[in-house]
Amino acid sequence: MELAANLNQVRERIEAACLRARRNPSEVTVMAVTKSQSPETVRAAADLGLNLFGENRVQEAKIKIGLCPARLRWHMIGHLQSNKCRDAVHFFEMIQSVDSLALAREISKWAAQSAKTMPILLEVNIAGEASKFGYRPEQLLEELPQLNSLPKIEIHGLMTLAPWSPTPERARLVFRRLRELKEQCEQILAAPIPLLSMGMSGDYEVAIEEGANLVRLGSALFDPRATMRSETP
Ligand SMILES: *Cc1c(COP(=O)(O)O)cnc(C)c1O
Repeated sequence: MELAANLNQVRERIEAACLRARRNPSEVTVMAVTKSQSPETVRAAADLGLNLFGENRVQEAKIKIGLCPARLRWHMIGHLQSNKCRDAVHFFEMIQSVDSLALAREISKWAAQSAKTMPILLEVNIAGEASKFGYRPEQLLEELPQLNSLPKIEIHGLMTLAPWSPTPERARLVFRRLRELKEQCEQILAAPIPLLSMGMSGDYEVAIEEGANLVRLGSALFDPRATMRSETP
């Protein structure tokens, strides 16, 4: 089956990247990004040992999650509108795409209503692309204390999307900058924040070399064409 072969190849490449960076492959979690994929595909991925899934639209995820095994874990990775926060808090284990104080407040409010604390990542637009969501680094550092003081969210790390390029190496500085920003955040908070969610199908090996511990993979798992792309340096 194609998915099994793709996953094997991904695991081999993760091991090789970890070897280059002198890291332990067990530090790197693979998230299967299943936007536009069917519940059957999710189940096939789960049967191969994947248990963390990412979705970028609340409406789609809501339906899909209900049709998938209950033991699976789901993260929201797409831009979140405030009128979807209530559902997002209910259906997801983590929201990776928090990019404003207003959104964080809304999430904290709905988490309080369901008597829980919501783990979040802060999304950063490192390259300053107009087409992408996410905090500007300076703005994140400025708002971090206020974000951290919200009662029902817990900051678990940072997330970014590198600019698309046929040359994964181009993303290296973006990933490095996110790792440095995480260290700056840890200094401000005087506490470690564990997660660096960076690297997608075209650039996850470079991301791992730069310290990613969560890679978000869609086409490398579900469409062989993308795996070809990351082969050409
Ligand atoms: C779609 C998506 C991914 C996966 O992208 P691929 O290139 O298919 O691996 C990762 N992160 C986010 C936020 C996405 O929307």
